[in-house]
Amino acid sequence: MIRTQLTKLALALVLTITSLPLRAQDNFKETFAETNRPASQNIRVTLTDAQDRAATVPITILKGKKEGPVFTILSGVHGYEYPPIIAAQELIQELDTDRLTGTVIIVPIANTASFFSRTPFKNPQDDVNLNRAFPGDASGSITQKIAAMFTTDIIPVSDVLLDIHGGDANEDLLPFVCYYNNEQKPEQTQLARKLSKASGFQYMVTYPYTLKDTDPAHYAFKQAVQDGKTALSIESGKLGNVQKEAVASIKKGVYQMLHKMEMYQTKSSPEKPIELNGQAYVKAETKGVFFSDLKAGDSVKKGDILGHTKDEFGNTLAEIKAPQSGIILYKIGTPPVNVGETVFCIGYNR
Ligand SMILES: [Zn+2]
Repeated sequence: MIRTQLTKLALALVLTITSLPLRAQDNFKETFAETNRPASQNIRVTLTDAQDRAATVPITILKGKKEGPVFTILSGVHGYEYPPIIAAQELIQELDTDRLTGTVIIVPIANTASFFSRTPFKNPQDDVNLNRAFPGDASGSITQKIAAMFTTDIIPVSDVLLDIHGGDANEDLLPFVCYYNNEQKPEQTQLARKLSKASGFQYMVTYPYTLKDTDPAHYAFKQAVQDGKTALSIESGKLGNVQKEAVASIKKGVYQMLHKMEMYQTKSSPEKPIELNGQAYVKAETKGVFFSDLKAGDSVKKGDILGHTKDEFGNTLAEIKAPQSGIILYKIGTPPVNVGETVFCIGYNR
């Protein structure tokens, strides 16, 4: 008897030890596969690349009382864009799984190395921009591994993917919601449009979709579109700050989308977005110190002088003219400018 118990105990110990690296709390797939609902779980997925660079990706899985769609929210793909990160945290705290139908997956800070080192756009560990790394590479550098984890584990189980960004450290930005007009997948595109319209954002930007199935998607939400999902993005906040109104409009957008999906009841807001289906990108032709009196949201006419660049001594180098009439969606909001950078993005209706 004692012998049997000891054997059982030894076996249990061996099982515990051998199963340690596979603990559910470290593993997205296992945690997601658990069938209890309602349930709320916070996990940290750790990835390490061949150069021993490590990433810890926080992921929340909220399972509602009833089964239903899976709605995934990514924040902090760019770690210097704070309003999406703060909004995601508040949503994790607020969303009540007793009131939720389906599942909400929230990644509050996709790129923690960028966030904690205060690095705009890129992961300083390997100097790669996570939002240019998709589909990623499971045997690549650390940022490519993060992208690959999203592509192979999270996007496939999602019905809708919402990637939330804002103006980065140097970007002045008009808040908007956006999606790809993928004509090959009309059902997914129609849902992206419906959710965008419901979001409460005043401006709705649509991008053309010309990606081939074999092309790298580069962007997180474009990857989801390529994989046949409904995907969209919010841009809110600017210049590396936490604007309370930017956080509030992101949260409102998420609640409105969940309401439209019949996943979470809330009061619906009016849907009257201004649609902008064209984008003109004004690229810098000179490296220098950038000046402009304009701000995101200002209307411009074709040929208007939008700003100029000066050299280090204050001598004017070049004027920057509007190639298109429209509204400034985003612009560089700080003095440094380099050749090839997008100084202005002008949104308009074709
Ligand atoms: Zn971004």
